[in-house]
Amino acid sequence: MNAKYYGKLIFELSHSGRRGYSLPDETVDGECQLPASLCRQSEPALPEVDELTVVRHYTNMSNNNFGVDTGFYPLGSCTMKYNPKINEEVCRDRAFNDVHPLQSAASVQGSLEAYYDLKELLAKICGMADFTLNPFAGAHGELTGLMVIKAYHRSRGDSKRTKIIVPDSAHGTNPASAARCGFEVVEVKSKPDGRIDVEELKPLLGDDIAGMMMTNPNTLGLFEYEIPEIAALIHGCGGLMYYDGANLNPLLGICRPGDMGFDVMHINLHKTFSTPHGGGGPGSGPVGVRAGLEKFLPLPKVVKNDDGTFAVEEESADSLGSISAFLGNIAVQLKAYAYILTMGSDNLKRVGPMAVLNAMYVREKLKSKYELPITGVCKHEFVFNGLRDKSTGVTTLDVAKRLLDFGFHAPTIYFPLLFHEALMIEPTENESKETLDEFISVMLRIADEAQAEPEKVKSAPHDTPISRLDEVMAAREPRLTYRQLTDNPINA
Ligand SMILES: *Cc1c(COP(=O)(O)O)cnc(C)c1O
Repeated sequence: MNAKYYGKLIFELSHSGRRGYSLPDETVDGECQLPASLCRQSEPALPEVDELTVVRHYTNMSNNNFGVDTGFYPLGSCTMKYNPKINEEVCRDRAFNDVHPLQSAASVQGSLEAYYDLKELLAKICGMADFTLNPFAGAHGELTGLMVIKAYHRSRGDSKRTKIIVPDSAHGTNPASAARCGFEVVEVKSKPDGRIDVEELKPLLGDDIAGMMMTNPNTLGLFEYEIPEIAALIHGCGGLMYYDGANLNPLLGICRPGDMGFDVMHINLHKTFSTPHGGGGPGSGPVGVRAGLEKFLPLPKVVKNDDGTFAVEEESADSLGSISAFLGNIAVQLKAYAYILTMGSDNLKRVGPMAVLNAMYVREKLKSKYELPITGVCKHEFVFNGLRDKSTGVTTLDVAKRLLDFGFHAPTIYFPLLFHEALMIEPTENESKETLDEFISVMLRIADEAQAEPEKVKSAPHDTPISRLDEVMAAREPRLTYRQLTDNPINA
């Protein structure tokens, strides 16, 4: 990091008259053809900088990024696992990259085969009959899956089913997707042990229930043991079971949502299947369905002809229609495909146990200082309810901020909403014991600091490019442009 550029804005590096280019001084012939109202009357107020300053500015700024490639990233519910570099190489191959989505199917057989093969592999891993890879994200997959449920009920002429049951521990996208799909969201409560309360579920059932969304392991990292009973209850009243498989990590090759009684599901390739995510980058949320629901999946679909070639189906009477541009994020799909093939089935089966072992190890080492509201075996992630010693006034937010000073990404905080001081840690299977031990020692040190010098923790971070933000102001009055130059037209 170069201190001269540290935290500066490009406008602050500007010097009047400095240029990063030189062009021959040629005037353009003829009148401006644009309407006068669209023509610039004065020079734009852009930073005036030389090329080297620009290069240093952006290079130094890129060093402020934190990613899985720079450090430990225990962000619960997000599965920030390592993105193997071979995946990138595969998806950048010109044979995949230099094609156009409107090319004939005959000229992109390789891409179609990869799509087809990946959806078949996912169907096998999840115990589903078919998959679409078209949705662009987990939440998009949820919406697509709920549209399948809607199309299914409509195909039976059943229009009474307006409600979707969602547990209080669900990821926020679940109720949002259900509402976006036009359903009424009915919340079902969890028991003190963090799992769905079947007795609370029973009175909600009726012929107005379209289905229920479940996450397993749930967002507390707990396996929901009562799925067979819950599925029987939902199916008994005519609803369908939806599985939020965004974080399928601990189940890979161990058990399958299809075998548990789920009818529709999505997975996040950008979590379980190692494709990068964060920062709003491209994702992929494939949706799987059990036998009998395949015809409702969105268009276009990739189908295999009898002669072994592949075709793209653009029309079908029962499909819910198109939910994406073409066949989704092919590059992301290819990375996940490469991941599955390079791992192979034996190694895929080791992912879950290793992820669970790492989570249990960190949890057991920290529970003397951090409050563990739910004991028993966790799966790939777990939730603390802040520090055990609440007398110091040091909160989960303070702990998360202090962690940044030691070069760790913060865990997920204040989610799930079941505990006031939730701190949710997911180490993933990729981390070595040395990294976990380092993280554990820093977490224990912060717990000691909270008692010895609470102000130090409360005012953290101290060593990052910017210190603690006013998060309420940042959300309510976001400043998205540079404002010092009030006459700058780009700020208007
Ligand atoms: C991440 C996540 C989602 C949403 O996935 P996006 O790709 O961010 O839309 C849904 N459910 C659970 C449990 C998740 O962890």
